[in-house]
Amino acid sequence: MNITSKISIFFGFICLFLTICIFSILKDSENRTIEFENQQVKKSIETFFEAINSKVEFLDNIAYEYSTNSKVHNIFEKKQLKFRRYFIKDKYSHFLLFDKNKEFVYGDVYDINSDEFVSTSKQIREFFKNRKILDYIKDKKTNFLTLDYEKVLFTIKKVYKNRKFLGYVFVGRTLDSSFLSELSRITHQYISLVPSYDFKEKKQIKIDKNLVEYTINRVDEKILFTYIKLKEEFSKNDFFISMKMNRDYFIQLNKNNKSLFYIFIITFIILIVSVYFFIDKLFAKRIKYITNIVKKVSTSSSLQLKIELEYNDEITYLAKKINDMLNSISLKQHENLKKERDFLQSVLDTQKNIILITDGKDIHTTNKKFIDIFKTKDYFLTNIALLDNKTQANLLSIARKYESHEKPAKLKVQNNHKYFIFDVQKLDMEKYLICMNDVSKYNEKICHLEQKATIDELTNVYNKSTISSFLNCWLEARDFCLIIFDIDYFKKINDTYGHFVGDCVLKELAKVVRKVLPKNDLIGRFGGEEFIVLINDNSSNNIINIANRIKDEIQNHKFKCDSLEIDITISLGTTFCKKGESYEKVYKRVDEALYFAKKAGRNRVRFK
Ligand code: GH3
Ligand code: MG
Ligand code: MG
Repeated sequence: MNITSKISIFFGFICLFLTICIFSILKDSENRTIEFENQQVKKSIETFFEAINSKVEFLDNIAYEYSTNSKVHNIFEKKQLKFRRYFIKDKYSHFLLFDKNKEFVYGDVYDINSDEFVSTSKQIREFFKNRKILDYIKDKKTNFLTLDYEKVLFTIKKVYKNRKFLGYVFVGRTLDSSFLSELSRITHQYISLVPSYDFKEKKQIKIDKNLVEYTINRVDEKILFTYIKLKEEFSKNDFFISMKMNRDYFIQLNKNNKSLFYIFIITFIILIVSVYFFIDKLFAKRIKYITNIVKKVSTSSSLQLKIELEYNDEITYLAKKINDMLNSISLKQHENLKKERDFLQSVLDTQKNIILITDGKDIHTTNKKFIDIFKTKDYFLTNIALLDNKTQANLLSIARKYESHEKPAKLKVQNNHKYFIFDVQKLDMEKYLICMNDVSKYNEKICHLEQKATIDELTNVYNKSTISSFLNCWLEARDFCLIIFDIDYFKKINDTYGHFVGDCVLKELAKVVRKVLPKNDLIGRFGGEEFIVLINDNSSNNIINIANRIKDEIQNHKFKCDSLEIDITISLGTTFCKKGESYEKVYKRVDEALYFAKKAGRNRVRFK
């Protein structure tokens, strides 16, 4: 893992840690706010009850046992209305009677606000008539009416007298809306009645020896409702009051927290980014740069790299030291390489061969022998002249061609002709080691020996073994004509003038015959004064003509030796050789032809 990644991970962890810290601080502050709100709620409930207690008549027990009261019975039976005021004012706002058939019998409604009696609202009568009243008698949770926007806590009971069912009584209390407004003002919360509420998270508070149950419902960030359970003492039923509280403190705190959070995050990001760039530019990048250079140096053969850094600090100091070390290693290496090169050069210079290392375009290394022979390296590779086929070729291609050649390459060196043999080794993808050996002297000797082995020393024509080989080759390859001739009475010349003159005659005879023969024909000395001629012609007429021409030429030629002029004649036997015939067969035939020529008186041609 590189240094930048490590720094990034480190900063990543710092960011994570700080984010967790910030979130836990925010959460803690939110919890404290909620706790504070709960305290506020408690205070509000206490204030609420204080206010209620100060106006105790509001929720005072209206302990009216109407079901057994003879006054109620009288109202039902005799319509005695004189008690009606007694029922209503200060006790409850609604007192309504309905008969068995839910028909309105009698009732009064008292308006607390205006302090006067009002007529029974139509809606109550219809409510009574149209609803299943028994449900309201049984179900204690629903005895709350909001007809005409009026909040009425009510109770419906059946009225019996001596077990005789008389009808229904509907009693209710209208909550004083101005009092509710006052309560709202005192508690600083909007207070209203709620018919029912399920307490999921029940809380309790002790007020005047009584336990009051309540629950808090945080609807959203702005509003909080507190539901307080109260007992309607008239019918001992539960009813609920809701207090609506604006969560101003919470909103404000949240706002503050959020802006603090944003300020912190922005500052933090700016800080982290600037610290990151600071560390990256001052340390990580420079360390990476040094590491890359050191890597390059370690993988390349050259140490010629220089670390360049700004700022005058420890990293620069280290870089400078690395530079110095690289330089001194490089110098040492150069010295060693130079020593090694000098040593190798001296080894090469001791070699008798010419050695050069080349890629075909330039000469990289040569030895002393090269300079001794060729004097200069300039244009050497491309200007070397190959004399065999008179071409100017690149030395590398000459070397590769002649490496496996039978004969040495003939090169022009300083206006002299020299012979070289080559050995080429591939060193790498481009370089070749060429080893050139000057074999001019050996070549001369070999040529001489070759000539000696093939040419008759006296007459300078092919010797017996060479001409025999040619004869064998020609027999395998083609049809041709063969002539064999012998000097007539040569023994006499030897005997008369001596062997030296005899040799002289032989030498000149070969020259004369050579001149007469076409270029492609071959002549060889077969032994003594006997010669053999291979004529590249497959017509027997021609051969007799050629043989006669030779015979005539010799007859007419004056052989001069010392001060002597000698005439000689020759006898010739000829034959036609067919491709594939054996050497013995043709030789026997031609020899017979010669024999016939001799026998017939010499100086003549015979064909067989
Ligand atoms: P013909 O062939 O006509 O029958 O008679 P001839 O005298 O030539 O017969 P022969 O073949 O018997 O003699 C050949 C002589 O050639 C014998 C030998 O002394 C001589 N001779 C052979 N080789 C050489 C040589 O290299 N130099 C000299 N000077 N004489 C040679
Ligand atoms: Mg002879
Ligand atoms: Mg002879």
